[in-house]
Amino acid sequence: MLLRAPDVEKPSNPRAQLAITYRFDRFVLDVPKRVLYIEGEAKPLSEKVFRVLLVLLEAEGGVVGKEHFFEKVWPSESASEQNLTQHICMLRNILRNGGRERSLILSVPGRGYRFGAIVERKVGLIMKAACERCNASLEPSGAAFICSYECTFCANCSEAMSRRCPNCGGELAPRPRRMAAEA
Ligand SMILES: [Zn+2]
Ligand SMILES: [Zn+2]
Repeated sequence: MLLRAPDVEKPSNPRAQLAITYRFDRFVLDVPKRVLYIEGEAKPLSEKVFRVLLVLLEAEGGVVGKEHFFEKVWPSESASEQNLTQHICMLRNILRNGGRERSLILSVPGRGYRFGAIVERKVGLIMKAACERCNASLEPSGAAFICSYECTFCANCSEAMSRRCPNCGGELAPRPRRMAAEA
């Protein structure tokens, strides 16, 4: 669940404020860096593959028509359906997890494609209310640890994972605390 804090504090990590990231399944997509993290391992994407993925994510689960792909991914070139099919195929291979059956990219016959996983979109610093590993509740004024993509963990889990985020591989740092009104 995404809850935007009403008063956004200055984040300790300036990159977190600018980051536009998508998280789905076991992946984190860093849009400004054009890097896909697969369980913490960075996988740079080619320009076109990156754009195909972004178009699908931006559609928020809706069907993306072929014309829309041509417009967004190949704006100044003429692309054929074969180009599109090929790039969808490349992306499916990247997203395929150890021979799992279900693809994250679903074909919609005669129309196009849509993304078939729950996607979390992040812009700016959001204070999460629970640890992503053990689900312990986290108070805005209490101790919590975050990576630069705001994956959030309690102190115990953070220590147990040696302060490494399991999603992006980044370092977990103490989250800036938000004090209660009377404090
Ligand atoms: Zn925890
Ligand atoms: Zn992370």
